[in-house]
Amino acid sequence: MRLDKLLANSGYGTRKEVKKLLKTGVVKVDGKVVKDAKVHVEPEEQEVTVLDDVVEYREFIYLMMHKPPGFLSATEDHRQETVVDILQEEDKIFEPFPVGRLDKDTEGFLLLTNDGQLAHQLLSPKKHVPKTYYAKIDGEVTEEDIASFREGVTLDDGYETLPAELKILSAGPQSEIEVTIVEGKFHQVKRMFQAVGKTVTYLKRLSMGPLELDPDLELGEYRELTDEEVELLK
Ligand code: URA
Repeated sequence: MRLDKLLANSGYGTRKEVKKLLKTGVVKVDGKVVKDAKVHVEPEEQEVTVLDDVVEYREFIYLMMHKPPGFLSATEDHRQETVVDILQEEDKIFEPFPVGRLDKDTEGFLLLTNDGQLAHQLLSPKKHVPKTYYAKIDGEVTEEDIASFREGVTLDDGYETLPAELKILSAGPQSEIEVTIVEGKFHQVKRMFQAVGKTVTYLKRLSMGPLELDPDLELGEYRELTDEEVELLK
């Protein structure tokens, strides 16, 4: 890993700030002053110090975001804002990406990380990681719909969904529900309701696997996961 990246990831400022710091000659690798930002270091094997303080290197970042509507679940886009655009520079340095996608208009729990292995595990269709959503539905959600979801419904492309748990919070011409699915097909919740003749008008993800959206996070806010939360995900 490049020395400037290691220092930036360890909280010594942006890459630009780190370059300036290096020029002052306060950074040593295995006891020797290094001023070149491009020098390659092995964080596990070599000791990097700043003003003789050992740099504690961390590789991964895990963020829980309360995704606001209007943002793409992507790392970059030429025309539209993405969830990564919301992040502070000091977190962007880790190059986190969203684990799975929420639609542009969907709100709620979004995990961002640069831990590819964990992301892969959480997204693996074999793992059946449950995801719970709150939704407002145009139309009266019925006991029949609960039964259909429990059986699995057929989406517009012929795909048969795995069983999903549907709970009615309030029924009427506009209903409110909670639904837990264990897959992540494109627009899955919206298409499941479409399959039973209803339209989702608002969608918010409440939880993913063992983690629930932190109620202290306002729309557009995020925080790092605690070590315990990261362990729960693994
Ligand atoms: N299902 C959807 O239809 N949209 C989402 O954003 C997530 C699940």
